[in-house]
Amino acid sequence: MPSDLEIAQSTPLKPISEIAARAGIAEQHLEYYGRHVAKVSLRAIEELQGQPQAKYIVITAITPTPLGEGKTTTAVGLALGLEKLGKKSMLGLRQPSMGPVFGIKGGAAGGGYSQVLPMETLNLHLTGDFHAVTAAHNLLAAMIDNHLHQGNALNLDPRNIAWRRVIDMNDRALRNIVVGLGAPEDGVPRQTGFDITAASEIMVILMLSTSLGDMRRRLGNIVVGYTYDGQAVTAEDLKAAGAMAVIMKDAIKPNLLQTTEHTPVLIHAGPFGNIATGNSSVVSDLLGARTAEYLLTEAGFGSDMGAERFFNMKCRTSGLRPDAAVLVVTVRALKAHSGRFRIVPGKPLPAELLAENPGDVRAGGDNLRKHIEIVRSFGVQPVVAINAFPTDHPSEHAAIREMAEAAGARVAVSTHVAHGGEGARGLARAVIDACDDETDFRYTYELEDSIETKFEKVARNVYGADGVSLSASARKQLKLFEKLGYGHLPIVIAKTHLSISSDPKLRGAPTGWTLPIRELRLAAGAGYIYAISGDMRTMPGLGEHPSAEKIDLDENGEVVGLF
Ligand code: ADP
Ligand code: MG
Repeated sequence: MPSDLEIAQSTPLKPISEIAARAGIAEQHLEYYGRHVAKVSLRAIEELQGQPQAKYIVITAITPTPLGEGKTTTAVGLALGLEKLGKKSMLGLRQPSMGPVFGIKGGAAGGGYSQVLPMETLNLHLTGDFHAVTAAHNLLAAMIDNHLHQGNALNLDPRNIAWRRVIDMNDRALRNIVVGLGAPEDGVPRQTGFDITAASEIMVILMLSTSLGDMRRRLGNIVVGYTYDGQAVTAEDLKAAGAMAVIMKDAIKPNLLQTTEHTPVLIHAGPFGNIATGNSSVVSDLLGARTAEYLLTEAGFGSDMGAERFFNMKCRTSGLRPDAAVLVVTVRALKAHSGRFRIVPGKPLPAELLAENPGDVRAGGDNLRKHIEIVRSFGVQPVVAINAFPTDHPSEHAAIREMAEAAGARVAVSTHVAHGGEGARGLARAVIDACDDETDFRYTYELEDSIETKFEKVARNVYGADGVSLSASARKQLKLFEKLGYGHLPIVIAKTHLSISSDPKLRGAPTGWTLPIRELRLAAGAGYIYAISGDMRTMPGLGEHPSAEKIDLDENGEVVGLF
């Protein structure tokens, strides 16, 4: 099979105006970035309110290996499969972060014959939304340090500033830095650091905002740190939020692209899946819901991570109700859950893992059954999508099918990567059927629950833990956040995505464990509190041989070596 980039570059693209017209988005709402990408004005959302509402489907997965199990490829493939069956589809995805593009090989725009195009544009700067997030974030950082330099009228404690700087690059050397070195006019020295742009709270604000005004309000609510007497200091207090909103005014418009089979895709926002929400934007889905019969969207990592936040935060914010969930499963991931194999990114898969062995697949089945249960805990029916790899064996697919059916779930094998929409017909049919089932959508917790109860409910009812245990300092922070009036916010639990538990080494469906919460952090602008459980990296590093070493321009100025 040709490489992703070769397939992408050999697929003729349609003008984006044509793709928009098919989705019923009027030309006047398009802002063109070249011939194949356009931003869509938020006015289109209001204008399309009269259109029928699409069925709404989230694409999630079992607990993935470090390689990823194909949510993005399956989301794209399913969109194409629905079109093959004569249904209009719209797909909403996150924008890939540039750091990992130059770090680890592996596309974030789908793969094979199920890709988002133009993939070079998508994987690199696209329309500059990430740069806008970076600039807005760093403007606030600059205004904080300037405030300290100009006499610190707000009495901000320099040792208690939570706002760092961001850049869209994997750069471990920036994790911890000292600013303000030099002469007195060079600022006030203090220790701080950089996170990757995808980890910025502003990225989550972009993801959760329902309108330009809502984004402006959330930017103002950002808490950058605390005064010497423990009062929260906000971006509004620093008079930074207005200018930040100006920087972000175009970034809030979703980006329209197309798939390998010319169906429409909205790409918007790219928050981290661990400390943040790991979902594409609310405005993108509000728009998409009025442009098709089926709106698909991917939620990061397994159903315990991105899908939990999709249901508990994204749907709660947008008011949209899910009709079904697709649970992506692979032979390699189930085999890994048997506990017999170790998968190391950048290294070839062990030969033993690739050998035909439905027994190993069955041995990992607890993980699949647990994720089916997690999806059902939200009152939504899962469709198990077996994402077929060229190295799979039919007996192994049969083993997955048996387990899914025994759990009462719909199931289909999908070969969308090798065959495009043709390969996803069966999956599309299963999803259409699932959308006709009754749903009984419910959240895991209510906003009125105490912060600790919210953590307890997610730990017990989603992860299957026995409960949570807060460290002394987490308990202190909890009291502080409640005292400052943030107790009503939804929550995110930042834990490993490589296990349903908080221990990345535990495979399958771990039981008899307690979720440790080391620290709580406040994202008052985005509007959530997150618990740190485990080691969370917010600035990745590059490996020994980053993929940047292979990326270049050829003699015609075309990109080579990008996936
Ligand atoms: P996720 O969105 O779940 O992280 P992706 O869809 O990005 O997963 O897929 C992860 C990686 O695996 C990508 O490099 C992708 O191209 C590859 N991949 C996914 N599905 C298949 C498949 N069926 N056959 C071959 N490679 C695949
Ligand atoms: Mg993905």
